[in-house]
Amino acid sequence: AKIKEIEFVKSSGRPKDCPRDDRAEFAMLGRSNVGKSSLINYLVRKKEVALTSKKPGKVDRSGAVSRMTCFANAPESAKMDWSSFTKGYFLKRDSLVAVLLLIDASVPPQKIDLDCANWLGRNNIPITFVFTKCDKMKASKGKRPDENIKRFQELIRENYRQHPPWIMTSSVTGLGRDDLLLHMSQLRNY
Ligand code: GDP
Repeated sequence: AKIKEIEFVKSSGRPKDCPRDDRAEFAMLGRSNVGKSSLINYLVRKKEVALTSKKPGKVDRSGAVSRMTCFANAPESAKMDWSSFTKGYFLKRDSLVAVLLLIDASVPPQKIDLDCANWLGRNNIPITFVFTKCDKMKASKGKRPDENIKRFQELIRENYRQHPPWIMTSSVTGLGRDDLLLHMSQLRNY
């Protein structure tokens, strides 16, 4: 899989302002600082395209063939309080191929990420877990990324009939880049 072109389309705060859903679309979802903009840069291999929205529920990235939509969840919110915009987008967007849920593998499972994963699972929304920061082998809170990942998968199991695909990534070492691009192109052509 190769990225030929990348273009920023728009930032939208309301469903009716979203780009027309005429292209295969992937949504990237994750709390602040999980590594969304780093992952986009690592996918497109260009430092200068790092545009991110700091506000939740903003559509802020797009690719030429498939479209990437980026959502941020406020880390300080203890419970799931996505806007109806965000939930509505996931439930109703016809062009949505899959949600890429970014999860920081260098910390133990966080409630907000578990809540997101559980909600998406219960609503049968196609999802891929993208574990970020897998290069941080000496994680701050004692556990290694592979242990955090294993624990996360155990904790969400009951909300999924089939375990979702998952990929370990690092925007620092490039780990998982080819796998993720291949995975996305396979999903898109499926
Ligand atoms: P965003 O808020 O979700 O867009 O997160 P950013 O992409 O801005 O990343 C937040 C912080 O985590 C930055 O300091 C990044 O340098 C760092 N970061 C992101 N990805 C990785 C990674 O794969 N490995 C490491 N070690 N740090 C990362």
